[in-house]
Amino acid sequence: MICEKCGKKNRKNSKKCNACGNLLNEKPVENNKLSSSIFKLIIIVPFFLIGLSYIGFSLLLIVSDIDKSKKFEPADGKLSDYVECGSSGDSNKCYALYEFGVDDQKYFAKTSISRNKNSFKEKELVRYNKKNPEDNFVPTNVYIYFVVIGAIFILISVGLFNGTIKRIKERKL
Ligand SMILES: [Zn+2]
Repeated sequence: MICEKCGKKNRKNSKKCNACGNLLNEKPVENNKLSSSIFKLIIIVPFFLIGLSYIGFSLLLIVSDIDKSKKFEPADGKLSDYVECGSSGDSNKCYALYEFGVDDQKYFAKTSISRNKNSFKEKELVRYNKKNPEDNFVPTNVYIYFVVIGAIFILISVGLFNGTIKRIKERKL
């Protein structure tokens, strides 16, 4: 690298001129790094939005479940049968039916998600509509996992964002 001030030849990676101490110009490289930082920022945005929608949708589902639970009566459900096995494409995954009784009458509540057969509990709390026990559901806390997944997406994107901004600022100072 040739010094612009005194014209002396310096080693390729040296930052200062050996002879006069003049800073050797590296601006073209810096610009490349800056544009790659901006490119990273553009990639972070969809990542952040995915996290946000995961959290939004699961919170909606959680709130609607809580809302339903208030209006519905609780009952002890006993694991009775597996239905619609393989309907999600995975033959090991089934929905479960939980049997519960209201006024000596038997009813069945179907889980809202399909899972591996052996992951269902023998007993599960069931909620039913007092006026019509056929209207029922098995509350699930699976949405909590979606909130966690969403939070991980957001944390990663915020971390990447801060790191990238910091690097851009450091370069400009
Ligand atoms: Zn020089």
